[in-house]
Amino acid sequence: MAAILANCIHCSTEFNIIIDELKSGFVTKTYECASCWEYNVFEYRLRSDQVKKHYRDREWLDKKYNSELLTLQQIAELCGCTAMTIRDWMIRHELETRDPGHRHQK
Ligand SMILES: [Zn+2]
Repeated sequence: MAAILANCIHCSTEFNIIIDELKSGFVTKTYECASCWEYNVFEYRLRSDQVKKHYRDREWLDKKYNSELLTLQQIAELCGCTAMTIRDWMIRHELETRDPGHRHQK
């Protein structure tokens, strides 16, 4: 989680914009000023290098997938990429992927 300090465009009151997850690309946030109740719309771009390419690390990928039992989609969201990219790296790392149709549930 990250916070960006900003000023209301209407009354200049300072406030923090809370970003719950770091995604690369363009993000738009709407914030209602606590002082003047006007809406502020923020757009910001996060550089892709701010999102770590964890999936290149075989141990990290193995841990997430086989120990924490995350799905390819969930890992993709952590890395800010697509499930296909994760699948590709699973293959490169010679890690076995689960068949999504045979997921065991207790
Ligand atoms: Zn304001």
